[in-house]
Amino acid sequence: MSDGDAPPKSSPMTTTAIATAPATAPTGGEPAIVFDRVGVSYGRGRKTTVALTDFTLRVAAGETVALLGPSGSGKSTALKALAGFVRPTSGAVRLSGRDVTDLSPAKRGIGVVVQSYALFPHMSVHSNVAFGLKSHRVPRKYIDGRVAESLAMVGMTAYAERLPRELSGGQQQRVAIARALAIRPKVLLLDEPLAALDAQLRQSMLGELQELRKALPDTAMLYVTHDQSEALALADRIAVMRDARLVDIDTAENLWQRPPTGFTAGFLGGANLLPCTVNRVSGTSALVTVGTHTLRADAPQPGVGRPGWAVDSAALLCIRPHTVQIGATSERNAVRGTVVSSVWRGALTRVHLTIDGLTDEISVDVPGHFDTEAAAVLGVRFSDPAGVLVPPTLGSEFDSSATDSVADVLGAQL
Ligand code: ADP
Ligand code: MG
Repeated sequence: MSDGDAPPKSSPMTTTAIATAPATAPTGGEPAIVFDRVGVSYGRGRKTTVALTDFTLRVAAGETVALLGPSGSGKSTALKALAGFVRPTSGAVRLSGRDVTDLSPAKRGIGVVVQSYALFPHMSVHSNVAFGLKSHRVPRKYIDGRVAESLAMVGMTAYAERLPRELSGGQQQRVAIARALAIRPKVLLLDEPLAALDAQLRQSMLGELQELRKALPDTAMLYVTHDQSEALALADRIAVMRDARLVDIDTAENLWQRPPTGFTAGFLGGANLLPCTVNRVSGTSALVTVGTHTLRADAPQPGVGRPGWAVDSAALLCIRPHTVQIGATSERNAVRGTVVSSVWRGALTRVHLTIDGLTDEISVDVPGHFDTEAAAVLGVRFSDPAGVLVPPTLGSEFDSSATDSVADVLGAQL
């Protein structure tokens, strides 16, 4: 069944969906959240958009999973399927072991926070937070206490009588979070909650969300973002999405150090992904040929169901921009690089170079303000090992884009 009826993000109606009955008690060790092969399509016939395909994910009580992926990859759709704003075309969603696929949003006991705050403009902060509690028949005598408790959690106690328009963006988002928390949800969903805030505020709100996380040790959180730094800061595990599918899921550290796919390598942290040929493998170390160069690489054990590193097979060498050194061409082990462009980014300068003997350009991060110009010739030294091997596909065994050029797909990442 298709469903294009999700309330617009900007609509305060979202509030009615977050204010719900208490969540059911967990049963016998079931994860707080289960997506079981969920598919979602919007529209019908020729206009069908497949927004989520065969999406399976489990989130334990107390765990935070970030859904990280580019715009349009299906993150919000996954969140809406769990909250009940869209109905899965196939598969099931379960909360603490209970199948809620056919349950109305209001009966799921989930707290939801969206990017646009979705506060009622004509109601005070107090009334906004109280609204859901009232409509779900929390006895009147408890409401003020619950509102106070929620506002205190987000540091907004002093603003209870203000209207949303009398608050800054960050304060409005705190109220939206308080509103979601007021029902004491077992499951909290946040959809790009910081995306509308400016960079500095985003940073401080990120710190506050970390504190909030600690204050809610039993709550399962699903945090949707396209910003890898938010995912790294908040999540126990990161689920990387692309084209309606889950590409990889693991701890941030594992995804960063041993990227299972080129897509994740590029999306998480940015990476030079150089096509290479495996020459020799010894344990978790390999020698690879990249252009005319032979470099040493980490060759982590591939995951279950993934092929190992066969000699003479093609792979990608993932070289992080900050691991490459730039100096004089006369330095030992230096290869000649020619500057294509450089951009100063404050704490570092991102330099793009062509390298003698390599087809692909590479990006190098030099700390601080590095003064150089196009056509300058420099010595480039890779570290040893130079990087980590990544399977040569983008990670979706099911779609044709496995044959896309990684550089094309990641295009703007570097
Ligand atoms: P993300 O949150 O990762 O940016 P979404 O889940 O919002 O992605 O969207 C996934 C895909 O589904 C996109 O192609 C988007 O255009 C499409 N889509 C989202 N909502 C609707 C809708 N209500 N009707 C039709 N297509 C939609
Ligand atoms: Mg979205």
